Amino acid sequence: MSNTAGRLYVVATPIGNRDDITLRAIEVLRSVDGILAEDTRHSRRLLDHLGIHRPMTALHEHNEVGLVQRVIARLEAGESLALISDAGTPLISDPGFPLVRACREQGIAVVPVPGASALIVALSVSGLPTDRFRFEGFLPRRQQARLAQLQALRRDTATLVFYESSHRIVETLRDLVEVFGAQRPAVLARELTKLHETLRSAPLAEVLDWVEADENQRKGEFVVLLAGAGEGGDAGATDVDDVLRILLEELPLKQAAGLAARITGAKKNSLYRRALELAEG
Ligand code: SAM
Repeated sequence: MSNTAGRLYVVATPIGNRDDITLRAIEVLRSVDGILAEDTRHSRRLLDHLGIHRPMTALHEHNEVGLVQRVIARLEAGESLALISDAGTPLISDPGFPLVRACREQGIAVVPVPGASALIVALSVSGLPTDRFRFEGFLPRRQQARLAQLQALRRDTATLVFYESSHRIVETLRDLVEVFGAQRPAVLARELTKLHETLRSAPLAEVLDWVEADENQRKGEFVVLLAGAGEGGDAGATDVDDVLRILLEELPLKQAAGLAARITGAKKNSLYRRALELAEG
C-alpha cells in the first residue's frame, strides 16, 4: 500500500425514511471519487434526492468476490470510495464482506459512517431484553435446514433476531411456532420507519394467526424477534415447564429451579418464579 492510498468508507443509508441519512453520510458520499452500490438504480434515486452525482459501480452478491482486486487497485491508486447497500448498514445481510476483509488484510483504511440497521432499530423498540441478543439474519430457504437451525436455538437465552421478507414470513412464523412453542413471546416489526410501520408483541401463535388472517400484515419487510428461553415469564417453551414439573415431584422448589436452569440453560430466577407458579397452580 502506498502512503497516498485512498479510504473505503462503509456508509449506512436509511432503511425506509429518507430523512434517516446522517449529515456525515451525505458529506462523505458527496466527496468520494466513486460509490460502490448494491443496486445502482435503486441507490441513484436516493443520491438524486440528495443532489449527489458521483460515479457508481455495482457491487452485489454475484460479482463482489471478482471485484475485490480491482477495487483494491483503485484504493491503492489513491481513490476514496464509499460502499453502500440498498438499505441500512452494508455487510449486515448485505454485500461487502469480501471487500472489507481484503482491505483490512492489506492495511487499507476502512472508515465506518454509521446509521440505521433494521436489527438494531427493531431491537431498540421491541421491549425485549437488549443486553444479550443473537442476530440470525435470514433463515435458510429449505425447510429442513431452517428447522435444524431453529432447533439449535431453542434453548438460547438471548433475545433472537431474524430477518424475513414478505415471501416467506408465514412459513417462517409457522416453523418458529413448531420449534419454540405457541407461547414464546415474540415481536413482529414490519416496515420500520415507513408509512405502514407496525409493531406487534404477542405470543408466537398469536402473531402467526394475526399475519395469516390479514393480507396487509404480510406485506413489506420484517424483523422477527423472540424472547430468549426462560425470558418474560413464559418459561421459554413448554419443555421447560415439563422439566420443572418432573423435578418438582421429587425436589424442593429451589433445588428444582436450580437443576432446571442447569438442564435448560434458562435463567435460575425466572425458573424459580415459574416453579412457584406451577407449585401454586
Ligand atoms: N443491511 C440492512 C440492515 O442494516 O438492516 C439489511 C438488508 S437485508 C437484505 C433486508 C432485510 O432487512 C429485510 O428483508 C428485512 O428483514 C430487514 N429490513 C430492512 N429494512 C426494514 C424495515 N424498514 N423494516 C423491517 N425490516 C427491515
